[in-house]
Amino acid sequence: MDKIQDKRAEHIVLATHQGLKYPESLPLTWGAKDPMKRGAVVASQTNPRARNAIGSHSGSYAVFRALSIASGQYAPNHRPDLNNTFSPVKIGPYESWFDETKMVSIDPWGLDPQNNFQELFEKGYDIRPSIAVTQAHLQIPEIHEAIRAGRMKPDGKVVLDNMDIKVTKVAIEPVWFLPGMAKRLNIDEGSLRRILFTESGGMYPELITRPDLKVWLPPIGSTTVYIFGNAQDLAKPEVELTCRVHDECNGSDVFGSDICTCRPYLMYGIEHAAQTAQKGGVGIIAYYRKEGRALGEVTKFLVYNARKRQVGGDSAATYFKRTECVAGVEDARFQEFMPDILHFFGIKKIHNLHSMSNMKHDAITSSGIEVVNRISIPDSLIPKDAQVEMEAKKAAGYFTKDEVKKGEALEKVKGRDIE
Ligand SMILES: [Zn+2]
Repeated sequence: MDKIQDKRAEHIVLATHQGLKYPESLPLTWGAKDPMKRGAVVASQTNPRARNAIGSHSGSYAVFRALSIASGQYAPNHRPDLNNTFSPVKIGPYESWFDETKMVSIDPWGLDPQNNFQELFEKGYDIRPSIAVTQAHLQIPEIHEAIRAGRMKPDGKVVLDNMDIKVTKVAIEPVWFLPGMAKRLNIDEGSLRRILFTESGGMYPELITRPDLKVWLPPIGSTTVYIFGNAQDLAKPEVELTCRVHDECNGSDVFGSDICTCRPYLMYGIEHAAQTAQKGGVGIIAYYRKEGRALGEVTKFLVYNARKRQVGGDSAATYFKRTECVAGVEDARFQEFMPDILHFFGIKKIHNLHSMSNMKHDAITSSGIEVVNRISIPDSLIPKDAQVEMEAKKAAGYFTKDEVKKGEALEKVKGRDIE
């Protein structure tokens, strides 16, 4: 008898159905101005009856949380104590938060939910933040070099006398409003849900069985934003704004690998963002976890080998073709949702956009943000082996003020062989 009871306690509902909608599960009205009318996204597992979203918090780290619970180290009923966790600076609300065409891949009210949904907390709802803000100092060798070379000067406010840069940093987890995402991708919601369900190996049956649940917290990486200067100035079009939208490249960003321009571009963006803040403007670096053009690092390293082993060696003329041969697509980043992060800060105008990518530029401008100047990286900051990538991108129509190489000249741009 005891055994049977144990089994019942472990009973799992494989796929919940619309008929299982509980009164505790709050409705969500995406885009509503009043947070209480919009409703809180509830994705925690401590009370499954109150859930009104598919998936779980912490993006890909939800899987590690599960392992931690499995090993007995983490209590599954733990509720975070949010005392003193609130943002040190005020961000929003901005008009863009109420526009369901601008805000579909993050939840702006996920910042300090304990303030936005106090009444619901008092009723016992377990609402988790999906956005957090804090402050920090950055110590970056390239910035120290820029100061020594006289390109930058400590001012005691943005750049301190010991060469630290003061920043506000923001972590943003993905919260996807599926009808809005389908609309932006120009497909119907049902097709989007079916493809997400199938391609994740059937990991989220509610994508199919619960069409009434419109929000999904996907198991993917978050976005980190670094702000130089006053965060509220980001929403003021009259204040000069320098922006880099950067897609993660661990090899270059962290380890200094010389095959691409990612770290030099990131550091140049930080230098300019800090300089703009020193002049009374504001800078923002948005760092998206989309490793290897969102194809992943395994694919990326395979492509590096294929590029270097091909007949004639690594060449700018065949740069994109190699990626497509291995991955099936040149680029899987889909910049369509990238500007949501910028709209979270109320950005309307970018005076200096650090990016060569037309996809990024077009996604930003077509979301209603004005771009004044586009900035490409100075040649002196490009590693020799990265010339292949740089020239291939220019030839493919990426933004540059330089001459674009074609034909034989492009074929002559070569990288190192496998050593
Ligand atoms: Zn890179």
